[in-house]
Amino acid sequence: MGKEIKTSKEAIEMHEKYVVQTYHPHEFVYARGKGVWVWNPEGQKKMEMLSCYSALGAGHCHPEILKAFIKQAKRYWPGSNAFYNDVAPLFEKELIEFCGMTKSVLINGGVDAVERAIKIARKWGYTVKGIPKDKAEIITCENNFHGRTTTIISFSSHPEYKQYFGPLTPGFVQIPYDDLALLEKAITPNTAAFLVEPIQGEGGIIIPKAGYLKKAKEICEKNNVLFILDEIQTGLGRTGKRFAYQYEDAKPNILLLGKFLGGGVEQISAAVCDEKTADILKYKEDGSTFQGHPIACAVARTTLKLIIKEKLDERAYDLGNYFMQELRKIESPYVKEIRGRGLLIGVELKSELGGARPFVDKLVEEGLLCNQTHLHTIRFAPPLIIKKKEIDWAIERIRKVLTGPIPTK
Ligand SMILES: *Cc1c(COP(=O)(O)O)cnc(C)c1O
Repeated sequence: MGKEIKTSKEAIEMHEKYVVQTYHPHEFVYARGKGVWVWNPEGQKKMEMLSCYSALGAGHCHPEILKAFIKQAKRYWPGSNAFYNDVAPLFEKELIEFCGMTKSVLINGGVDAVERAIKIARKWGYTVKGIPKDKAEIITCENNFHGRTTTIISFSSHPEYKQYFGPLTPGFVQIPYDDLALLEKAITPNTAAFLVEPIQGEGGIIIPKAGYLKKAKEICEKNNVLFILDEIQTGLGRTGKRFAYQYEDAKPNILLLGKFLGGGVEQISAAVCDEKTADILKYKEDGSTFQGHPIACAVARTTLKLIIKEKLDERAYDLGNYFMQELRKIESPYVKEIRGRGLLIGVELKSELGGARPFVDKLVEEGLLCNQTHLHTIRFAPPLIIKKKEIDWAIERIRKVLTGPIPTK
């Protein structure tokens, strides 16, 4: 105890020895961060280009988020849901107004919010729609990512996520993403909900055809099926709108938020419900120790405030377009396609290269902390507070890597 880590090597060796290795990190150790910049124990400076999978929307150590955090941390800490507190209600109200919805379930991690949506949808199916007991079906999409609990992996299409973890939870039907005809065909009298991501983030920044979400919502409405959008990665300004569904006015019955909701510093997520779904769950049917965590709520209030005040969504829209325009100017023999919305950008490499990982390692070496999503796609998702000249700094490095020799590693 009392010992501090002084070198990257030490951090990596200890981590590999003492924690179960379910990740395969690139070689960078965080020791300090400010805005879009981070430093390792050796003092090397890099740019944040992944933002903790979109959670760090305001970058590292944003002064207003830090202030809200410290202010509440000095007042009191979670007092349990056996009592009320004087911070959560303010956030609960502001969240509902921000989303234009009715009520929310507040919870901890993103996957917890997805679990709540499933509970709400199933109970709605039984008590409102009249689906026979235990027969409710939820339609999900291939290539999805909704988290890692045993229920959620039951409808993952990644074999590694689920092959050793059965028996899996039944009640999920899978259809291809971006296919309206098969959605319509998959709906039965027992269908309670359709759960979908507006853009498949972990799936490789896959953007559906224009009109998909709006039509999917219409199909759901017509068939008395709940429309649930997982905006845990895409929501809260990331894609250039408050929510990605706003590109086509496809407001869901349940909107799932997480990641940036806690300002990058706290874990808080929400299943935000419309009028239809707001009062489905009742006393004893749900709960969690840290629900309505006062520090998380104080920070999350600041997240919403910053999005509004700093127009983080409009910034992401403009800077994302600029970023993509500059990326498209790079004449690279490796790039198959560049796609994105706002500051959620994917650069898909040609499949004959065998995967984006060596390119990502090279980009990390050159100063950009990005990652690959799916096998062939490099994801760029900087903090939404990034400046134009910082994007230029990034583009220079990206150009160097994408026009240089094929990295070997
Ligand atoms: C990250 C993510 C989740 C899961 O969130 P966790 O906080 O990791 O549990 C769910 N859905 C989407 C779309 C995500 O990107």
